[in-house]
Amino acid sequence: MADADSTLPPLAPGTLYLVATPIGNLEDITLRALRTLRECDVVAAEDTRRTGQLLTYFGISRPILSYFRFNEARRGEEILQRLSQGAKVALVTDAGTPGISDPGERVVRAARQAGFRVEAVPGPCALVAALTASGLPSEEFHFIGFLPVKSGQRRRRLENLRGVEGTLVFYESPWRIEKLLEGLAELYPQARVVVARELTKKFEQFLAGSAAELLDRIRQRPLKGEMVVLVSRELAAPQAPEGSPAATPSA
Ligand code: SAM
Repeated sequence: MADADSTLPPLAPGTLYLVATPIGNLEDITLRALRTLRECDVVAAEDTRRTGQLLTYFGISRPILSYFRFNEARRGEEILQRLSQGAKVALVTDAGTPGISDPGERVVRAARQAGFRVEAVPGPCALVAALTASGLPSEEFHFIGFLPVKSGQRRRRLENLRGVEGTLVFYESPWRIEKLLEGLAELYPQARVVVARELTKKFEQFLAGSAAELLDRIRQRPLKGEMVVLVSRELAAPQAPEGSPAATPSA
């Protein structure tokens, strides 16, 4: 059982807190995330404007420092400097868990190497929400995140994943979902595929079927919004009886 007392100690000076934020539904912020954001000295954010809006929504006012992929090295130094002065630094990204297909890993490694304390303030993460609600095997899974943009590299990566066990979990954009499903239809024609879309939001949707079935579906009606694509080679997509139209992807 959770230890209620463990929520009581104040934030520790010289600590980097990795704070997960909602991936759509603002009710998903945790009490600990709110307290960390309220009590930290500075919030290091991927996008200062978006984080400013989030803080305002929750009635929190803290200094915000920009920290994103292209200034990670320089801003990382600044964060370490603040930690060395005893600051409590909260790192957030635009949505979800920092370090998961988002900035974070680099400054965490540098902070640990420099001997600073790093704490996770866990919470929303699209991969966990998608996997656990997909109905696909979750005992063993492999998180791939985004495939490379270049088609040759994408294909090679998909081919190399043939040898990997468990459910595959991809992050994908609406612009490239068709390309991903084409690759999956070619390399994993029997697999059961789930597209988990707009998780935690008003139009959340799970579409399941073979990659070819889902491809037909999105060619008729393109998918918008944010999505996670999951692939199980253990569970075959149900086959439509011979002579009948292909099974409609299930929502
Ligand atoms: N750090 C985030 C996390 O913990 O999930 C991921 C950030 S990554 C830049 C953004 C990608 O995550 C999106 O392109 C999409 O693949 C996935 N994603 C984020 N929010 C989502 C949502 N509400 N529904 C479905 N997928 C989502």
